[in-house]
Amino acid sequence: MNSQTIKLYDENAYGTEFTAKVLHCEKADSRENLYAVTLDRTLFFPEEGGQTPDRGVLILNDARKIEVLDVQIKNDSICHYLEEELPEGSTIYGKIDWEHRFSNMQQHSGEHVFSGIVNSRFGYDNVGFHLSDSVVTMDYSGQLTEEELKDIEKSVNRAIYENREIRAWYPAENELSEINYRSKKELSGAVRIVEVDGYDVCACCAPHVKRTGEIGILKVINSQNYKGGTRVSILCGFRALEYFYNEHAMIQKLAGEMSTGIENVPAQFKKQQEEMSELKRKLSESCEKLLLKEAEALPEDSQNACLFTDGDIDPNVIRRVVNSLVEKRGGYCGIFFGSDKEGYRFIIGSGAGLNSNAVLAELRKNYEVRGGGKPAMVQGSIEGASAQDISSVFLNFSME
Ligand SMILES: [Zn+2]
Repeated sequence: MNSQTIKLYDENAYGTEFTAKVLHCEKADSRENLYAVTLDRTLFFPEEGGQTPDRGVLILNDARKIEVLDVQIKNDSICHYLEEELPEGSTIYGKIDWEHRFSNMQQHSGEHVFSGIVNSRFGYDNVGFHLSDSVVTMDYSGQLTEEELKDIEKSVNRAIYENREIRAWYPAENELSEINYRSKKELSGAVRIVEVDGYDVCACCAPHVKRTGEIGILKVINSQNYKGGTRVSILCGFRALEYFYNEHAMIQKLAGEMSTGIENVPAQFKKQQEEMSELKRKLSESCEKLLLKEAEALPEDSQNACLFTDGDIDPNVIRRVVNSLVEKRGGYCGIFFGSDKEGYRFIIGSGAGLNSNAVLAELRKNYEVRGGGKPAMVQGSIEGASAQDISSVFLNFSME
């Protein structure tokens, strides 16, 4: 069964239907409950060169449709993974998911134009390419700035509007030796060349669009430093359009909620942030005043004191109020924020010569306590103790 599958997509990237003979069908050794099927010829592009495989169905004589779940190259043949067994020698009818294929063609051809421009302008190679349903990334061997990426993106789109021809063929050996092409690895066997007129020549096995115009548009979505070079994420054609739909809907919604035009969203957002931090500052101030008042109102029959409050209070405020309590009382002073039901977080301070960790040790005898710190101040959380429980530990805790 060492016959190479005829790759129908090599000649015609636009073909969607084909008939073929089942050469071999066996239980797939690596995939549970799946069958590995090789055909004499196929339109299904396998996972190869960083690109995920085509989707589609194989249709039997009795019109049953069997979904092709994966397509891989195995022993030089193209292997289709199915949930059902097919009779060897039978003829089947295959149909690929054209929308999926065309989207891959748009992304992949866009990548070639992009990489060709990067290569001719900067000399960097595309050393890693990933094309799946969710991402299209290229890893370049050198660093590209945002400004440079913008320039390249513009040039790619110009190449798209120029509607240049894209040609794929297998040159004879003597012709190949004359061609200067990009290649990720040393290739053996027949080399397929994909040429974008005026922009790129590259060895590639994948289906491409016939003219650059079909790429539609190329948009850089993201870039990051990656292994000393740059990883660039792009979207082409309908995928780019889908991305714009979503992004535009998002910004429109934001603008609607801010009751402003989309062009004012950044300024409005900044203004709201400033207002919010001013409000937070004022709230902290009020909280501090209120807590200090409550602290002053505590009974003065002990050097120790503890205060309970609910809500989410800035820890800096709590710390300051604890310090002022300690200054006045000289003993162990704590502020607990939370509730009997949910538990409390706390900050406890103590006067000169005392160790706040001692109160924690006392509380730990009966309750679940987390946290600790330096003798002068500890912080943490306590569970299973009511305000009353905690108060009684505090007020009875000896100053020794
Ligand atoms: Zn390629």
